[in-house]
Amino acid sequence: MSYLVLKDINKIYPNGFHAVHNFNLEIEKGEFIVFVGPSGCGKSTTLRMIAGLEDISKGEFYIDGVLCNDKGPRERKIAMVFQSYALYPHMSVYENLAFSLTLQGVDEDVIEERVYATAKILGLTEYLDRKPRQLSGGQRQRVAVGRAIIRKVGVFLMDEPLSNLDAKQRVTMRSEITQIHRETGATTIYVTHDQTEAMTMADRIVVMKEGYIQQVGTPYELYFEPVNMFVAGFIGEPPMNFISGVIQDAKFIFGETVIDIAHVLGDEELQKYEGKEVVFGFRPEAIKLPNIDNVENSYVIDSMVELTELLGDNTNVYADIDGIKTILKIDPHFTPEIDTNFTFAIPYSSVYLFDKETEEVIKTKK
Ligand code: ATP
Repeated sequence: MSYLVLKDINKIYPNGFHAVHNFNLEIEKGEFIVFVGPSGCGKSTTLRMIAGLEDISKGEFYIDGVLCNDKGPRERKIAMVFQSYALYPHMSVYENLAFSLTLQGVDEDVIEERVYATAKILGLTEYLDRKPRQLSGGQRQRVAVGRAIIRKVGVFLMDEPLSNLDAKQRVTMRSEITQIHRETGATTIYVTHDQTEAMTMADRIVVMKEGYIQQVGTPYELYFEPVNMFVAGFIGEPPMNFISGVIQDAKFIFGETVIDIAHVLGDEELQKYEGKEVVFGFRPEAIKLPNIDNVENSYVIDSMVELTELLGDNTNVYADIDGIKTILKIDPHFTPEIDTNFTFAIPYSSVYLFDKETEEVIKTKK
């Protein structure tokens, strides 16, 4: 049995709202799991059920083989870091870090040793005498993380811990938390709505939508093998481009454009989807430029440039393909003029097709 097991977990709030449906997940010891999804998809509710802060309406939750549905938060030996740092304002950093150990009646000497060791990991040694209000947002967040890791529990839960930080601090703390995880080896579940945090930090990501798990996988699997349009559109920035059309005589047709779709679809799928509506997907960064790249085994597409955004390491080109708005990511040295034609290529291996009705991915040849 895995270290943490969530079996058919459901949450129905007292007002009748069904927030989490049949959530199934097994987590191995030491894994860094990220729950990601848009606001309201049930991430925090699931995390709070794991923490014991919210009742599990239906299903079973095991820690190390022990059924924990009815165990209180303390008994579960789980540490949680919240969005609001929840530090004690009148206590120094040292006292904040030491607090839970003091409550447990741990020896002063041991507490001191652990506070200094934790402060060292988090770069807080020189701030131990300060009060929280004398710290920056990033430093406060570090104290909050420190308060959790000092307890040396087996499971670490974090609910959007970086959301109060500015963009630069978030990037720094992101790598610090990953580093701390590597050092402590604690099983971690981290909640965020930010797909970049999920992609950069997770061993495995759980993508949620409206209370349902959409897909569980490594960052690589979610990026390259999304199971449906939601995951394909959620993971990746800018998001995947989608073009709706119909398959007729092994061609994908939208507007005036006709594409030989047999390059990406096998015979079986071609037959199955003949006459049906499908969605053609490609990532902005997957495109090639005919005058500089090898564009064999690619679709060559014409578009009209509506806007360009130079971002430094790349340019986002907002291009209209036969009435469909798309975003293309290119080398800034090849930024096209607005209102001109822009020809680009999509390798067959970078094409995704989705069933328009179910929004599920259709198996392609790659
Ligand atoms: P966010 O990123 O905005 O925090 P989330 O994915 O964490 O979102 P949850 O906080 O888990 O979402 O909420 C899931 C759904 O449950 C939401 O639709 C929310 O309105 C609803 N919900 C949360 N708490 C309660 C409650 N106490 N009673 C009824 N519905 C609730």
